[in-house]
Amino acid sequence: MSGFHGLFIPGPTNMPCGVRQAMDIALEDQRAPDFPAFTLPLFHDLKKVFKTDKGQVFLFPGSGTGGWEAAITNTLSPGDRVLIAVFGQFLHLWADLCRRHGLIVDAVEVEWGEGVPVDVFEQRLRDDNRHTITAVLVCHNETATDVTSNVAAVRNALDAAAHPALLMVDGVSSIACIDFRMDEWGVDVAVCGSRKGFMLPTGLAIVAVSPKALETHRSAKCPRCYFDFADMVRTNKDGYFPYTPATNLMRGLRASLDMLLGEGLDNVFARHHRLAESARLAVKEWGLSLCAKEPKWHSDIVTAICVPKGSNSDDVVKIAYHRYRMSLGVGLSKVAGRVFRIGHIGDINEIMILQALAGCEMALRDVGIAVRPGSGVAAAQEYFRATAPRLQLDKVA
Ligand code: PLP
Repeated sequence: MSGFHGLFIPGPTNMPCGVRQAMDIALEDQRAPDFPAFTLPLFHDLKKVFKTDKGQVFLFPGSGTGGWEAAITNTLSPGDRVLIAVFGQFLHLWADLCRRHGLIVDAVEVEWGEGVPVDVFEQRLRDDNRHTITAVLVCHNETATDVTSNVAAVRNALDAAAHPALLMVDGVSSIACIDFRMDEWGVDVAVCGSRKGFMLPTGLAIVAVSPKALETHRSAKCPRCYFDFADMVRTNKDGYFPYTPATNLMRGLRASLDMLLGEGLDNVFARHHRLAESARLAVKEWGLSLCAKEPKWHSDIVTAICVPKGSNSDDVVKIAYHRYRMSLGVGLSKVAGRVFRIGHIGDINEIMILQALAGCEMALRDVGIAVRPGSGVAAAQEYFRATAPRLQLDKVA
């Protein structure tokens, strides 16, 4: 079949040509004398995306889940207590991973479609006057439900309660897409992966660590080996790794960083916001609702759309895949069959999102959901036209 298959899931994302080409190289010597000339600037530039001067960023072979494991095993000990709010599949999985490592998980169950209950967190932290909670875990963007939470507010809650717990953030689908400020928000460990905002294949767990977390690491007793921060610290300072690094992915990461920093992070965030707004306008025109319950939770990364009672969102995704050659995200776990998701993350622009919206309209109508053909697309088009940068035709070629 000609043309390409539209990838509108919230990761893996569309891989830019430049990133793909940067990885299409012969394998290289990871102990070569000039390898640090490549890796040290890479570490340096990664810190710009996490907005940290004080922290250090480690590149582990792995995915986001490996990043979670690195975060907790390096900083916590079995029997430690962590505070987490669960309102989506990825938070559920992170909490589960903590339990399997012998941690005590204080899970605040929140309705799916809402975000971190900062007031509840603050009260729990105030009540914990013996400081038994050792870490607070936050998912910046819960990809399963299109909910973005306020990390800065969680930091404020910790400060207001004068609580010393570490602040750990899952930024797997947020970092490099929406604003993330590690130092300013006092984040101790931030976890990301290669296959979302960084527009790469799966294979790197990208973990940023504050000096406080590195200090805590010295006494943390969770078993670890492959993901040990200490081995990374020891070898990364000279530009090397404790074991064979994923060099081709790192070459791709160099290209990805050049793209992100070349566009300018603020422009990257603005682009994600614009695309998300257009999708939200389309959903409104279709008469459907978002999984995110209130505008304050709206995600600029993914739009999760509830189908009317009696319809199955999996059918929308299946029809879109087979009839129109585009991938949408299915609803996960609690929202399976009730929600489908449009990912507008990474290397994506206005025309691509219009394509996704057009495909959704056809698939929705095919399953009997009576959206007006072209209605969502038109709303998005008009929004793009109204908000496009002014162009002086006589000043451009
Ligand atoms: N956290 C979030 C917010 C995610 O969206 C995902 C995956 O989509 C993960 C963690 C797990 O990452 P991975 O599947 O790369 O291990």
